[in-house]
Amino acid sequence: MENKPQPQKIEDDVVVSLDYTLFIDGQEVDSSKDTGPIHFIQGLGNIIPGLENELYDMTVGDEKSLDIKAEDAYGEIDEEAIIDIPRSEFPADLVLKPGAEIEIESQEGERYAAIILEATDEKVVLDFNHPLAGKNLVFEIKIVGLRNATEEELEHGHAHDPSSHSNHSI
Ligand code: ZN
Repeated sequence: MENKPQPQKIEDDVVVSLDYTLFIDGQEVDSSKDTGPIHFIQGLGNIIPGLENELYDMTVGDEKSLDIKAEDAYGEIDEEAIIDIPRSEFPADLVLKPGAEIEIESQEGERYAAIILEATDEKVVLDFNHPLAGKNLVFEIKIVGLRNATEEELEHGHAHDPSSHSNHSI
């Protein structure tokens, strides 16, 4: 059923393969150089909106440098996502180091990652914001592949490349 011609430029429902390097405050913090390009379906919000919106009409080989404000990336820091929890709710022998990441399971069994901001005998302050919340991002990107999404991929809402590091999403 795949009679559509190969896409020549980025539009909705095209699977994009993208190489990127991410800089924050002039420092390189992440790159696809080691992991290989990421693959995602354009137009479905698989990646941050500030990046996705800039990709339309780009084609294989195109490169771009993008400044993306926090509000178009991982959002501003939400003070309500910084939560005090009594120390007594954690196992007594659990080491709680400020700066370390911890995973918390909700009563519904969902897991959330948080950064420990503070840990005293009385309370533990956890920050559930995305680590990149509040940050302005600079991406250097290069389009390395385009193809049509399969019907299965569109049903699932994500790309299926076996080589994909799709949990390494941006
Ligand atoms: Zn799937």
